[in-house]
Amino acid sequence: MKVVLSHLTKTFPGRGRGSKKKEDVVAVNDFTFEIPDGRLVGLLGPSGCGKSTTLNLICGLQKPTEGQIFFDGEDVTQLSPQKRGVGMVFQNYALYPHLNVEQNIRFPLENLKGPEKLTKEQMRTRVEEATNLVQLGDLLDRKPAELSGGQQQRVAIARALVKLPRVLLLDEPLSNLDARLRLQTREEIRRIQKKTGVTTIFVTHDQDEAMSISDLIVVMKDGVVQQIGKPQGVYDNPSNLFVAKFLGTPPINLFDGRVQDGALLIGGEKVLTLKNVPDQAVYAGVRPEGFTLSENGPFTCRLSRPEVMGRDVSIVSTHPASQNPVVRSIVDAESCEHLSGDTVRFSLNPRKVFLFTKDTEARIPFESV
Ligand code: ADP
Ligand code: MG
Repeated sequence: MKVVLSHLTKTFPGRGRGSKKKEDVVAVNDFTFEIPDGRLVGLLGPSGCGKSTTLNLICGLQKPTEGQIFFDGEDVTQLSPQKRGVGMVFQNYALYPHLNVEQNIRFPLENLKGPEKLTKEQMRTRVEEATNLVQLGDLLDRKPAELSGGQQQRVAIARALVKLPRVLLLDEPLSNLDARLRLQTREEIRRIQKKTGVTTIFVTHDQDEAMSISDLIVVMKDGVVQQIGKPQGVYDNPSNLFVAKFLGTPPINLFDGRVQDGALLIGGEKVLTLKNVPDQAVYAGVRPEGFTLSENGPFTCRLSRPEVMGRDVSIVSTHPASQNPVVRSIVDAESCEHLSGDTVRFSLNPRKVFLFTKDTEARIPFESV
C-alpha cells in the first residue's frame, strides 16, 4: 500500500503560563513524502528529531496539527488507530508476561469484531503463518521471560504481522539488543519485509542500520526533512553538512577551507582545482575513502599512527584546519608499507570531497579540473 504524507505538521504547545511559558515544539514540520508500495523506508535522525512523532501520526496514536495522511488515496487523518490497519513494533517489546509466545501473537486476533471476527481455525492458521515467518515455531510454549531479547522482538514483530497490516511501523526495534543480535535481527526484518511485501517504515538513530536495510532513507533534523533518497545516493550526494556528517563510519573529515581563484585551499595548501565556484570561505568534507597516499600529494597531515582494520588500514593523522580531533583516512594495506616520518601526504578524490557554505551549510556544487 502506498502511504502519502502531505504537509504533515505536529506542534506540541510549550508548558507554563505568562512569561514562564516555554516555546512550542514543532516535532514534525511540513513533512511531505510518498512512501512507495511494498518498500522499506528508513527514517533516520538524532534523538528528538521527530521520528517517533511521525510514526505516531501515521498509526493514529496522535493527530497532526496540520496536514493529511493518505493510505492508497484514502484520507485516514481522522481515522482511529484500530481502523487504519497498521502494525506497530516499539523499542521495548511490551509482550504480556503471563501469556506464552503463541498466546501473545494470537492476542490481537481475539479482539477482532464484526465482519473481521475470525474462527478458532482461522486464528490458528494466522498464528502459524506469523510464527513461521519469524522462525519461532519451536518456542510457542515459552513465556517472554524465557526468551532472549532478539526472540522477544521477533514475537513482537509476529504479533504486529498477524493482523495482516497494510503498513508496518517499527520504532527503534533493535535498540535493546546487543551488537551481534542487532545485526542478525535487522537482516531478519529485511527478509520478513521482502517476503510479505508489506510497506514498512523503520525508525532508527543508527545510520548504519538504516543504510543497510532500507530501499529509501529519510534524514530528519529538528522536525524537518533534510534529504530523501536511496542510501548510497544520499551518502554519495549529501545535500547539506548535517546529512554529510550524519552518514558514514568512520565519519566524514571536516576542514576549514577557502575557495580562491579556482582552487580549494586547506591550511594554505592547494588541495584541489575547481571550476565554477565563487571565492568564499567553506567547510570542506572529505570521506575517509577519499584520501590516497601519495608521496608528492598536495595535502599534508601530521601522522599519528596507522590502525589496521583487517583488509584496510585507517591512517590517523592531525591537521590544523581539521574540525575533528583527528583525520581518518582509509587506504589499502599495501599502499602504506612505506609509511614513515612525522608527516603523511595525500591526494584527494574530488568525488569524495564536498563543499558547504559557512552560513547555511548547504552544499556547494563544483566541477573538478
Ligand atoms: P525522536 O523519536 O526522533 O527521538 P520524538 O518524535 O519523540 O523524537 O520527539 C520530537 C520532539 O517533540 C522532541 O523535542 C520531544 O521533546 C517533543 N515531544 C515529543 N512528544 C511530546 C509530547 N507529548 N509533548 C511535548 N513534546 C513532545
Ligand atoms: Mg523516538
